[in-house]
Amino acid sequence: MIRLSIVCFLLFPIVSCFAGGDNSSSVNNDPVAALESNTTAGVLASDGTSEFDTGYPLSPERKELLISYSRFKNIWRFARFFIGIIILLAFLFSGLSAKFESWAERITGKKTAVYLFYLLFYTVFLFVVNLPFDYYRGFIIEHRYGFSNQSSGEWLIESFKSEAITFVFLFIIVTIMYKLINSLKRWWLWFSIGALPFLVFVMLIYPTLIAPIFNTFKPIEQTKLGQELTALAEKAGIHNPDIFEVDASRQSKKINAYFSGVFGSKRIVLYDNTIRLFTVDELKYVMGHEIGHYMMNHMWIGIGLAIVMILIGFYLMDKILPGVIRRYSQKFKFDRLGQIASLPLIMLFISVFSFVSQPLTNGVSRIMEYDADEYGLRLSGVDAETAQVTFEKLSAYNLADPDPAGIIEFWFYDHPALNKRIANVNKLYEEISKNN
Ligand SMILES: [Zn+2]
Repeated sequence: MIRLSIVCFLLFPIVSCFAGGDNSSSVNNDPVAALESNTTAGVLASDGTSEFDTGYPLSPERKELLISYSRFKNIWRFARFFIGIIILLAFLFSGLSAKFESWAERITGKKTAVYLFYLLFYTVFLFVVNLPFDYYRGFIIEHRYGFSNQSSGEWLIESFKSEAITFVFLFIIVTIMYKLINSLKRWWLWFSIGALPFLVFVMLIYPTLIAPIFNTFKPIEQTKLGQELTALAEKAGIHNPDIFEVDASRQSKKINAYFSGVFGSKRIVLYDNTIRLFTVDELKYVMGHEIGHYMMNHMWIGIGLAIVMILIGFYLMDKILPGVIRRYSQKFKFDRLGQIASLPLIMLFISVFSFVSQPLTNGVSRIMEYDADEYGLRLSGVDAETAQVTFEKLSAYNLADPDPAGIIEFWFYDHPALNKRIANVNKLYEEISKNN
């Protein structure tokens, strides 16, 4: 769960998913698969099921689709990174950022209000410039592969909502950051210390205040499935567990599940798509995996890692950026890091730093995923075959490459490759069976 904007950089440990995904929109998991752009994959068949339901076992046609989707994603990872960099460079070198700052100052004399107006210009400008790329990735491609269940209007409304939420967080973070830059020599240290309670606060409110802006969550019904999943959580030592079903099908056909929250807001969330397409045993395995994240306190490890990355990143920023500004101050039309006009430069630095440090953060994430896979197998008591089918379904329905190139997994995957997860649970199951 790692994204590039400053807000996302700060919030990356927000949820622990069952499946990995490169999130194309900033708040939601990216929507999920068929051939031509006028796909019929989402059309309901006469028996009420959709063509998408036949995604598993993987047919040769769907395998081709999987290969093409994976190839697209690999190219897009780099393309989107460089597009973002070029946009920010143009923003800086055109002097537009400095112009936004002087416009904001002309409107108001108050420092905090200047930040507010600057951010308004900044957000609208970047939203408009990035819109064609985000629309292509998040809407056109997701439709072409038969994942998206949204109309372009719905997609756009959701993007507005995301942008509005990002704006609120950005305003808080940016105001604090520039006040610290302008008053303390070691601003980066105080900023990193302050990021801890802020991150905990956001993780606390995410499940109850932010996620419901995009989807409806309802407690899982106490049918046979609900009772079994509740019993599984009780067995792990979680009393009165909060298990929710989310209408993820509102956005996409992709399947997933996740754990989120801290303290009282901790919960396990299953996508309605997942519940529909998985058997009770497969869902028990998915649930076991999420309980693993919960019991092994992975959200705290995520928060800890985020703080370390913020500390290193902002320290380097303080050492590097003032020199860059001195060198290009003629072009940028501002001359201090303490000016809000430097924000695109800070974002540029964060983009590059996040990209470069991904192998480390994703590496830590993959270790936690292996641990959760193993915990899930032991707790749920399902056999290796059930766990294997769960992973195969994930690959088939989400068009996830089960066997990516090593370097791609190393750099970009926050979850291990599905074939490795399968091999890992098979090995563990053999050990468990031997000991019994
Ligand atoms: Zn996980």
